[in-house]
Amino acid sequence: MTALIIDGKKIAEGIHQEVADTIRKRTAAGYPVPGLATVLIGEDPASQIYVRNKIRTCEKLGIHSVAYTLPADTTLKTLEELINFLNAAPDIHGILVQLPLPEQIDEYRVLSLINPQKDVDGFQPINAGMLSRKNSTPWFIPCTPAGILKLIQSVEPEIAGMEAVVIGRSSIVGMPTAQLLCRNNATVTICHTQTRQLAEVCRRADLLVVAVGHSKLVKADWVKPGAIVIDVGQNRVEDASADKGYVLTGDTDFDAIVPIARAITPVPGGVGPMTIAMLMRNTLSAAIKFSV
Ligand code: NAD
Repeated sequence: MTALIIDGKKIAEGIHQEVADTIRKRTAAGYPVPGLATVLIGEDPASQIYVRNKIRTCEKLGIHSVAYTLPADTTLKTLEELINFLNAAPDIHGILVQLPLPEQIDEYRVLSLINPQKDVDGFQPINAGMLSRKNSTPWFIPCTPAGILKLIQSVEPEIAGMEAVVIGRSSIVGMPTAQLLCRNNATVTICHTQTRQLAEVCRRADLLVVAVGHSKLVKADWVKPGAIVIDVGQNRVEDASADKGYVLTGDTDFDAIVPIARAITPVPGGVGPMTIAMLMRNTLSAAIKFSV
């Protein structure tokens, strides 16, 4: 078997197209242009790149964006004032606070301040809580998990009853991904640093989602033949021969897994582009549902 390489870039471009078309039609009909505010604190180079890419994509699709860049020593009070201002701004439909935050700022507190109807990242406790509850529908599903589900469904539209293993239980990727797969009726196991017999657990998976941040952790013999493997990892591995001095690798041993899996996402070009596409879709959806 040779795995299908899932083209996240192409699937993301399809979503961009849909979002741009809808915005064009809606603005022509007099509806407001969707607006996204990004808030970046400090100078983490990876966060700067992520925010820049999000703003560029907004421009491309016709989303109005406003970028706030604050120094690393910003206080919680300053951030609170900014979020309160954005919560009340009628031209802003989505608020994205880029994570991680500097140590002096309580992440949970900041996320709690965002109006849940503008919470396009889906991390506000009300949306996070609704994701975990049966018979409740969150206003926004976190972008990376939503993108992961789309990638899986591009291969296998119906995942009910499938055995899914998610490695990683972070609040932004692993846990909401596990909850989303469970809501779609997969049988889900969540693994983490304390998991015993990790390789053995992984070998049960029809769907294996790896969100760890450890280059090439998952080896070929951890993968069940015919499994769908979603590699979320984005690891910068030093490489003097590369232009940037590093290469980007995933959390799986991609080349060795290709002959075994049914489908796998590459890094880069798999989950990364989908995260941005789902953010654009959430921002449009915020404008459609909650414009005042
Ligand atoms: P995190 O550090 O918050 O969480 C990592 C999780 O992996 C933890 O739950 C931990 O228990 C688990 N873990 C760590 N080492 C492990 C091991 N050896 N065995 C089993 N479990 C282990 O990270 P995160 O924010 O969830 O991100 C995970 C990866 O996904 C990172 O590489 C990050 O850069 C990437 N990421 C990519 C996107 C994207 O859009 N492509 C978005 C978010 C995160």
